[in-house]
Amino acid sequence: MSDQRFVLAGVMGWPVAHSRSPVIHNHWIAKYGLKGSYVQLPVQPERLEDALRGLKALGFAGCNVTVPHKVRAMELMDELHPIARRMKAINTIVVREDGSLYGMNNDGAGYVQSLRDADPAWRGDAGPVLMLGAGGAARAIVVALLEEGAPEIRITNRSRDKAEALAQEFGPKVTVVDWARRNEAMDGVALLVNATTQGMHGQGPLDVQLDALPRSAMVSDAIYIPLETPLLANARARGHRTVNGLGMLLNQARPAFKAWFGVMPDITPELRAAIQATF
Ligand code: NAP
Repeated sequence: MSDQRFVLAGVMGWPVAHSRSPVIHNHWIAKYGLKGSYVQLPVQPERLEDALRGLKALGFAGCNVTVPHKVRAMELMDELHPIARRMKAINTIVVREDGSLYGMNNDGAGYVQSLRDADPAWRGDAGPVLMLGAGGAARAIVVALLEEGAPEIRITNRSRDKAEALAQEFGPKVTVVDWARRNEAMDGVALLVNATTQGMHGQGPLDVQLDALPRSAMVSDAIYIPLETPLLANARARGHRTVNGLGMLLNQARPAFKAWFGVMPDITPELRAAIQATF
């Protein structure tokens, strides 16, 4: 009998059934021959604190947190990774030996890695970025792109006040463009990012025109269902390099798995196929 410990982890959200994280982590548990399981943890917002405090008692190594818990869970951590503090949200919790909770946010780094996976020569300082959206995903990506040396990030959002708040917080490299001027703002951009919900399965397409976007620009979408949003299909037809949101999802999971299970896992075609089989 092996003395290898059985490791438990999971994803806490409300609802949580849509999350692809169990597929990812259980695929890796099987692939690396580990003893453990990654489970769904449906937790109502008013029970979040109780649920987090219960992780240690239940023997969890940690968990992911997803909508709507990412901000509130951060406030309940005993210690935060500095990047998570800048992002004002967490997506990963590690339960330490003494029972204290350590919060991280791997979404932004996962996003950046997905661009590098698509184009190893990608550089954050290649030119201006146009960010569509100013919600949680946009904030994480803005922080990560600033870390990568982005010289200018133009943020445009349907509700201008949220874009203004990000610009105020992150200083002069981050500017606000009125949503009505989003198409003109593509002029001179090296990277276009969609971090709105528009284009997602069940939502309308994102209403943008790419005419002003330089052909050299990379176009990325945080959405991964569908893998190719109407925005990415348009961009591909114009000859742009395109990156979908699946790489962000898979890459954010790697350091979390390492923290809980002790193995830095690989992203393989088999894993991508396992996820795509759930779409
Ligand atoms: P969020 O915080 O709720 O933000 C939603 C954003 O979409 C806001 O900027 C919102 O603008 C905008 N929006 C909503 N409806 C719109 C419309 N009709 N027209 C224009 N803009 C609209 O959500 P989030 O967590 O940032 O998620 C955003 C997207 O990123 C989702 O599609 C999500 O699936 C994806 N995501 C992917 C990953 C990954 O790993 N690939 C991780 C996280 C999120 P207002 O401020 O005006 O409401």
